Amino acid sequence: MSAVTQPVTDTPQHILESVFGFSEFRPPQDEIIDTLMAGRDAMVLMPTGGGKSLCYQIPAIARPGCGIVVSPLIALMQDQVSALRLVGVRAEFLNSTLSFDDVQRIENALHRGEIDLLYVAPERLTQARTLTLLQQIPIALFAIDEAHCVSQWGHDFRADYLQLSLLHELFPDVPRIALTATADSRTRKEIISRLQLEEAEQFIAGFDRPNIRYRIGLKQNGKQQLLRFLKDEHPHDAGIVYCLSRKKTEEIATWLCDQGFNALCYHAGMDAEIRAYHQRRFLREEGIIIVATIAFGMGIDKPDVRFVAHLDLPKTVESYYQETGRAGRDGLPADAWMVYGLQDVIKLRQMMEGSQGSEEHMRAEQQRLNAMLGLCEITSCRRQALLAYFGDHLDQPCGNCDTCLQPPQTWDGTEAARKALSAVWRTDQRFGVNHVIDVLRGSSNDKIFQFDHQKLPVYGIGEELDNNQWRSVFRQLVARGFMSVDLERYGALRLEEKCRPLLRGDEGIELRKDSKLKVSKPRKAKVELASDAEMDLFEALRACRKQYADELGVPPYMIFHDSTLQEMALSKPATLDEFAEISGVGANKLDRYGAGFLGAIADFERRNSGL
Ligand code: ADP
Ligand code: ZN
Repeated sequence: MSAVTQPVTDTPQHILESVFGFSEFRPPQDEIIDTLMAGRDAMVLMPTGGGKSLCYQIPAIARPGCGIVVSPLIALMQDQVSALRLVGVRAEFLNSTLSFDDVQRIENALHRGEIDLLYVAPERLTQARTLTLLQQIPIALFAIDEAHCVSQWGHDFRADYLQLSLLHELFPDVPRIALTATADSRTRKEIISRLQLEEAEQFIAGFDRPNIRYRIGLKQNGKQQLLRFLKDEHPHDAGIVYCLSRKKTEEIATWLCDQGFNALCYHAGMDAEIRAYHQRRFLREEGIIIVATIAFGMGIDKPDVRFVAHLDLPKTVESYYQETGRAGRDGLPADAWMVYGLQDVIKLRQMMEGSQGSEEHMRAEQQRLNAMLGLCEITSCRRQALLAYFGDHLDQPCGNCDTCLQPPQTWDGTEAARKALSAVWRTDQRFGVNHVIDVLRGSSNDKIFQFDHQKLPVYGIGEELDNNQWRSVFRQLVARGFMSVDLERYGALRLEEKCRPLLRGDEGIELRKDSKLKVSKPRKAKVELASDAEMDLFEALRACRKQYADELGVPPYMIFHDSTLQEMALSKPATLDEFAEISGVGANKLDRYGAGFLGAIADFERRNSGL
């Protein structure tokens, strides 16, 4: 890493401009920073891509002493430190990858007051040696990133995080800030109590990610549907495809490669080195697709992920939101695309029943899955429903989700639903969906005769719908809680209390017509760039960026984000002063790369004007 410039002790606003190259804070960044500057604690809940890092980085630079950041993932720490050094901030990390000499060097620098930000792994921070060291130097603040790791409910639980409450006891006068993107209120309460943040000011930013377009469609042939989506909309983009099983991630990755995509798999069962290699390639190269289980994600700060595709249904709305939230952190248009079917519901319920846990825990899980299913089957704006789930509110339908863009058609499914429920009842709630549909459609296969089902009054009363239409009816009835799938009995359908009024004829039901996921308004990922010339210049700037990135051994987005390059391609700065005006260009990057990029623009202009 090259030498870093002098520390900046300055106002937050000036640091924002001169170091990071941004002109204004995104609310509530300013209020959070004011709170820390005043020496008070903060608890911050902000969606992915909302801009959490600046909330502690800027006060850490502005306040006297070193800012200590607790971060759970070593890879993430290294990235953040590299990114900070590129803008000229004196940042270091302490974790198990360092040699003894490195540790010594960092400790000495700390004593001399030469570090603005120190990233530390939680288990490292709570060692006696580290605590003693920190007690000898001035500390600007403690930032606890990914604070939901203290929650024993979540899947990111880290026992070391529980120890972090001792920061409050050992350093009562140092302001602390806890940050998370995990939304549910139980987790939030747990963070506050476990980290003793009762006094902290709470900042809950809106959850909306307006640049993400949500789409959820019926799974017919998941692989082919995915291929269509990628070919039509993201032929060269970086993205993530989530699957439930490890085996499937491998299979899909191989298949995508056969189809000409650059795809790599990622799951917890892989050799750690290969896994790290795949992750590194995803970050450093452009246009890589990662096919992953949920093991992939936390700590992936890649800003230009253009799509997140789900080939399997996530278990909860929280997971769905967290996973889709990895798309479009740079604020440019991005897609959250998912296909799902009845089989997914059955598989998830199966996994849930197989898992350990108290009855209460299982019931809670059931409810969360039901909420996820509700989101899939909804006929109104998906974003409104998502935000409502997190206690947030959106006045108008968003206009950027599939149900807004292509309002789903509904039909009066009362009669069909009643037939479906009766057929389940008449077959003693002992059969799975395929057989019940056979009964309704009057099929004459062996199983029908084996159980004498041709004699039932419901036999053959459902010939007006075909097999797929019936599956859609059953899927929606299960999703909406009118019936359930009994997994102890091989997927037998069972009626739920909720179906009574429907069966009695007191209530009707509107069902959703299944439609294919279509692109209603194709968009280019780089929407801002209208002309071919602008696109070409953008590509030239990308090439310039890649050179710097390779020289420094960092991912291209750390040099400049796509959005910064876009602005360059549009405004075509000709002088360093003009270049400095571009969002994302701070003093340090202006110094180092300004001339290079100006050269690339000038070259392009010359070639283009035919001179
Ligand atoms: P989070 O940690 O909340 O997911 P980040 O801190 O990584 O989000 O910020 C997301 C992106 O937004 C980054 O690219 C960052 O540079 C950018 N960003 C943050 N704050 C601002 C701001 N005030 N103005 C412009 N861009 C910002
Ligand atoms: Zn919408």
